[in-house]
Amino acid sequence: MKSFNFKKRFGQNFLSDTNLLKGICSDAQILPDDEVLEVGAGAGALTRELCHAAKRVVAFEIDRDLKPVLEGLGEENLTLVFEDVLKVSTKQIDDMFDKSFKLVANLPYYITSPIIFKFLKESEKLFSLTVMVQKEVGARMVAKPGSKDYGLLSASCAFFGEPKILRNVSRKMFFPAPEVDSCIVGMKIERKKFDISADSFFEVAKACFKSRRKTLLNNLVEAGYKKAELAGLDFDLSRRAETLDARELVCLAKLLTSLSAEERSK
Ligand code: SAM
Repeated sequence: MKSFNFKKRFGQNFLSDTNLLKGICSDAQILPDDEVLEVGAGAGALTRELCHAAKRVVAFEIDRDLKPVLEGLGEENLTLVFEDVLKVSTKQIDDMFDKSFKLVANLPYYITSPIIFKFLKESEKLFSLTVMVQKEVGARMVAKPGSKDYGLLSASCAFFGEPKILRNVSRKMFFPAPEVDSCIVGMKIERKKFDISADSFFEVAKACFKSRRKTLLNNLVEAGYKKAELAGLDFDLSRRAETLDARELVCLAKLLTSLSAEERSK
């Protein structure tokens, strides 16, 4: 790896500390019968630990320059996929697994949120998420309503489970060292936590959080709802989305769904 040219544009900050790598596997509670998805295998340090802990690992890596290094790991239970994970359909990724899988990754920082949203929203087989993210992103994932970090990412994570910061990781643990510290966030996916579809939730949550300074009413009008109909809803739309927890967003989403159904039946 000495001659490898690290690519900042791919968020390449690699880990090598064995205790930390083993710690991530234990944070993810990997069992010998588990199937694991790793996003961004890099030079394979985490991949190797995952292969030793799990039954099978599917690892995505965008950078084909890492192919010889990763193929050189020689792990028999490893499937390598040299693709941009965001360009492969989630259904296709789900189909690579026999059963539900654990996503474990030291995520590339420039696309952390898109990757998290992709799997939360679309995967039918995601069992849990254990991801290394920038400290600020971790704070957003676990934030509660009313705090400065609370937003769409926080509400979306809360819709699917109870994300927790499992450990803080100093920037010194990476090579090359990034400009910020990181943390590991873990959550088990609870698909039936609320009785509405993820699509209905995301549609409404996205509209509500569109502009932080605007009230729910103004954001919803901007999203195409009619002011007169909204006025009849049993919900205080003078509030801002940042004060609503996932349960209240679900409540609002249900009211808005019944509104659209009424509109359709006219
Ligand atoms: N897992 C390794 C480790 O912990 O040392 C590397 C982690 S590094 C933070 C992120 C890795 O994700 C890099 O190797 C980068 O090339 C890869 N990557 C970046 N964008 C990607 C994408 N869209 N799809 C798949 N891999 C990607």
